Amino acid sequence: MALLEIKNLQVKYGVIPALKGISFSVEHGEVVAIIGANGAGKTTTLHAISSIVSKSGGNVFFQEQDITNNPAHEIVAMGISQVQEGRGVFSNLSVLENLQLGAYLRKDKAEIARDFTFIYELFPRLAERQKQLAGTLSGGEQQMLAIGRALMSRPKLLLLDEPSMGLSPLITENIFRTIKKLNKENKMTILLVEQNAQMALWASNRTYIMETGQIVYNGNSKAMKNDDFIRKSYLGQ
Ligand code: ATP
Repeated sequence: MALLEIKNLQVKYGVIPALKGISFSVEHGEVVAIIGANGAGKTTTLHAISSIVSKSGGNVFFQEQDITNNPAHEIVAMGISQVQEGRGVFSNLSVLENLQLGAYLRKDKAEIARDFTFIYELFPRLAERQKQLAGTLSGGEQQMLAIGRALMSRPKLLLLDEPSMGLSPLITENIFRTIKKLNKENKMTILLVEQNAQMALWASNRTYIMETGQIVYNGNSKAMKNDDFIRKSYLGQ
């Protein structure tokens, strides 16, 4: 079975269906992207996996365990860490303190120290700004910090919600390069949702396309990037 298996997942906001029964999977070691327009249901999908919103149907399996009804804190403890859209770092805490918070469930001091080194190597800018308040960082640096904080919990699956949001093309590319590196060199399994289809297809192994609460297309990201229909319909080319 896949690391993450989603079956017929449904979410409603009041009477309005936001997810109309979607099914997909993420295998160990993959980067999987979900792309689609604003309002397609991408964020809702991540929130449903993390139990931030309640599900009205379907199942979520993680490491072959049914976690559909587990509360959010248990899901984090099981190894799923979500980086929220808009980053959500603690503005009045320093870079260092934000990273420390990411490790709040851990007691393995030596390993935590090792992860600090790892994150500072991954994002040298954070190392330079350890004492700086997170609120004074640039948008790109805050995104790095949010990813770093999520990594401090040593997740088995990293959920990224629109890492490109509000960032310049250059910074976006930098972030996506790091996402690829994390996957290649550190074997991190990643599920990311993105409006920037171009970047998402470049950084991922497989991609699902969502429209109004449904998955309408999926495939190998490289193949999709070269597919005329996908290029015309979703990449504006
Ligand atoms: P975005 O890029 O804007 O985050 P998305 O693809 O992630 O878009 P969702 O945020 O998951 O889409 O929203 C899916 C649908 O559910 C949209 O129609 C949205 O308006 C609606 N929706 C999202 N959150 C709520 C909420 N808290 N209450 C009511 N409706 C909501």
